[in-house]
Amino acid sequence: MILLLAALLLPIVHTDFEGGSLGKVEQVSPTHFRLAVKGESDQDGRNRQANWYYFRVDGASSKPLTLDIVNLPGEYNYKPNQGAITKDTPPSISFDGVHWEHVTTFEYDPQEPKLVLHVQPRGPRFWIAHCPPYTNASLAKLREEIHRSPDFHEETIGKTAGGRDLVLWTIAHGESKDKQTIWLMFRQHSWESGSSWVGEGAIRTLLSNAPESKKLRDQVIWKILPLCDPDGVARGGVRFNVNGFDLNRNWDVAGPVKMPEITAQRNAVRQWLNAGNRIDLLLSLHNTETGEYLEGPPDDGGSAKFKPLAERLFQLLSTETSFAPMRPLSFAEKTTTPGKAGRMTVIQGLYANFGVAGFLMEQRVSFNSKMGHLPELADRLKFGGDLVRALASAVAAK
Ligand SMILES: [Zn+2]
Repeated sequence: MILLLAALLLPIVHTDFEGGSLGKVEQVSPTHFRLAVKGESDQDGRNRQANWYYFRVDGASSKPLTLDIVNLPGEYNYKPNQGAITKDTPPSISFDGVHWEHVTTFEYDPQEPKLVLHVQPRGPRFWIAHCPPYTNASLAKLREEIHRSPDFHEETIGKTAGGRDLVLWTIAHGESKDKQTIWLMFRQHSWESGSSWVGEGAIRTLLSNAPESKKLRDQVIWKILPLCDPDGVARGGVRFNVNGFDLNRNWDVAGPVKMPEITAQRNAVRQWLNAGNRIDLLLSLHNTETGEYLEGPPDDGGSAKFKPLAERLFQLLSTETSFAPMRPLSFAEKTTTPGKAGRMTVIQGLYANFGVAGFLMEQRVSFNSKMGHLPELADRLKFGGDLVRALASAVAAK
């Protein structure tokens, strides 16, 4: 009986909610857990990435807890590494499930490797995630707020491998074939919740009642793929669809059954162009742990005509936003892995198929020198607004 009571008083780790993910959970002592990051590998069992963890602790007492985040090593583009998670990427913690702040008391042991968190509970329950989560439920909540706007339109462009709807949102005040058009893609990779927070910031800015927002809707037709991997987001995945296909590679192969997400997204672009519409620019927004950069369309000579646009955009982002690039503007190679099929990103594939001016932007999870702190949720939302302003200015100057 006493043992049973003691067991009831122990903290319990849960992941049985949308986006929740952990591998093995080991209790070392009543106040010390070893928590393995689940990680995911691709369709060939390669390119393991282990950087999404999201869990809730219930039944915490006032005693500090030690949480070791382990099983981090992986592979990226076939090169082994010690893991994406390091001393530069402390997680966020929430005591109410809504507001998030960074964990500030932690150390990183590069030997194992492991990230050791020291958490002082403020109540019996708290949540921890690699980055503040943004789930399908978060997007549904946003949709509920905006879907009656006369300048908002939604269409379903297909289903995921897991049977979820893939949606395309259009935000514009009046549509005509000669109007400038910008396509935005968020969350091709499910761990990159920061991409979604920026997307929400962008969408809120575009649909706000401010005169400036009305101008953005007058000038540009915004075609938005708000969440490109709903299955991955639901299960707390990393960067592959349910069949193991990386949704920002594989843009050079046809796989309507194994990777219906890519098929639907490419078809949406194709239909738009076949109907005689234009695409002035397409941007896919991603997160990395420590890298931040902008990459333009593949530099194959034919894409040289996009260089002035790319330079304008890079300049605007650098001067008008919190974008803190680690390197100058770059242009994509033709593929990420020469000689191997299924290795083109969206911007490589759409350039090869349709000559689209595609851009890929990476934003870091780690310290942003321009802001002087780790990026917080509010920074992501704000950047979304700054991003759409910069994009509209970049295409306006053409
Ligand atoms: Zn990504």
